Formats: sequence, structure tokens, C-alpha cells
Amino acid sequence: MRAGMVSDRGHARENNEDAGFAGRRLIAVADGVGGMPGGELASEIAIEVLADLERESGGSPLDALQAKVELANARIRDVIDATPDLQGMATTLTAILLDGQRMALVHVGDSRAYLLRDGELTQLTRDDTYVQALVDRGAISAEEARNHPQRSLITQAVQGEPISPSGVLLAPRVGDRLLLCSDGLSDMLDDDAIALALREHADPRECGQRLVELALEAGGRDNVTVVVADLVDDQSVG
Ligand code: MN
Repeated sequence: MRAGMVSDRGHARENNEDAGFAGRRLIAVADGVGGMPGGELASEIAIEVLADLERESGGSPLDALQAKVELANARIRDVIDATPDLQGMATTLTAILLDGQRMALVHVGDSRAYLLRDGELTQLTRDDTYVQALVDRGAISAEEARNHPQRSLITQAVQGEPISPSGVLLAPRVGDRLLLCSDGLSDMLDDDAIALALREHADPRECGQRLVELALEAGGRDNVTVVVADLVDDQSVG
């Protein structure tokens, strides 16, 4: 993968509780919640634990990712047990691991993964949110969900409690472009605007810059973090 990450505090928040990783094998985004300093710490722990996968190889990439999510969850539990003031700290976690011809995705919370293939944008994750559950039940439309007052209420997070991360194996293709983002992007931009920006910029990092710029222009009400990654031939990874 050739990947670039861009993160910005946004216009409304005092700190940046998002964290991310853009490597050759691993990309990840975590959006911490729980106020200072818990949110920042939770997302940092999650990314730190997952980052080991950039160097480790072998076995099923999905098992490897799932194991690290469980480990991150346990680490957060340990920190809370040692420092009860941090009770309530939590983080979303969305990550993709590429291992040869195999690619795995794990997801907890409302940070999203998208795939741009042949110019078509597909959302690979389903938000663990109250409003997504309402959409699934047919109670509200996707458009209503975008503007729902409780749209940021997540139903699952990495917070030292039992979790059921969703995980899936994907079939990667050279030329695919992946996007991971915190809700600071997807709340500000609709899928059409995201797709447009993903098609417009060849360089992953420049593309990430543009996406963050657009989120800030649209209001920047939250921390915004994006990772853009292109699947390239091994030989051409510089
Ligand atoms: Mn957020």
C-alpha cells in the first residue's frame, strides 16, 4: 500500500482525540471519546497496539487484526483499572491489514472505511450507531440519519468491556484506493463529495489534505482524520 494520513483538530475542539496509522501493510483510524485526557489516550493505545502488525506477518490477517483489537481493549481495561478517573475513556477503531494477496478489515464504532474501485465508491463498514440501527429497521432514511441530533451516539466502542468487532476478508486489486476516516469527515461531507475528492488527486497524501480541507470548509465541527491508501504493485512501492 502507498498510504498517507492527515489529521486536524478542527475548528471547534480544544484537542485532537483522533489517531491514525498509514503504513505499507496496515492502515488504521481511531476516534477517542471520554474527554481530556481519556479520549486521546484511548485512541493512542489502540493505534500503538495495532501498529505492531506493520512488522509482524503470517497467519490469517483477519485473526491477527481481531487479536490486536482484543489486546487494545484489554490494555484500555488495565489503564482504567489503574486510574479510575479515566473510567469512560473509549475509542472507535477501523483498520485494514494487507498480507500478500489477502486483506482484512476490522471495525468498531463509527469511523468508516470506503473503497474506490473503478471510480465507484463503496462504504465497507456499517456504523455501530443508534441512527444506523434506525436506518436498518427502516425507521428513518439515510438522509435523515445524516442530520439526526443523535447521529454521533455509538453503540459499540473499544473501552475495556466485551466487544464484537465486525471483521471481513476483502479481495484486494491493484488500483484500489482505500479511505479510512473519523466521523469528522463523514459528518461534514456526503459520499458524492468524498468520491469526487478521491478521484481528483493522484497522490494519497494530497488527497487526504484535500478531504480534510473540505471538512474544515464545511464547518470542521469535530477532529478530522483521514488515511488514503492506494494498492500498488510491490515493485513500485517507494
Ligand atoms: Mn469524532
